[in-house]
Amino acid sequence: MIVVKKIKECDTCNGFCCKCFIMPIKIHPKFIDDYKKWLSYHNVKVIFHKGRNLVVIPIKCKYLLDNGKCKVFNSSKRPIMCNIAGCPKEDKELVSKLEK
Ligand code: SF4
Ligand code: SF4
Repeated sequence: MIVVKKIKECDTCNGFCCKCFIMPIKIHPKFIDDYKKWLSYHNVKVIFHKGRNLVVIPIKCKYLLDNGKCKVFNSSKRPIMCNIAGCPKEDKELVSKLEK
């Protein structure tokens, strides 16, 4: 059984976690500055968080509605990971890095 994590902040959040995706990336330390520069030209940010470089790719999910709700909520179209992934806003340090 999948535990659906719901927090009351979702109602007022406008889908912060649906507006980009964040992935770990391996970059040789020698090239990190150059990678950051190159990726910034594509509007992709690299942040260092909890010992890993993460790329933040600002591509909105196609199912995020203008009102911040998920169009496919409660349907089989909604990926399982949307249920089980934690709320990034609970990690204040991550949020502050994302907002810089
Ligand atoms: S960022 Fe957190 S509060 Fe906002 S929609 Fe995602 S899970 Fe809900
Ligand atoms: S499917 Fe719904 S919950 Fe998942 S990223 Fe898209 S809008 Fe957000």
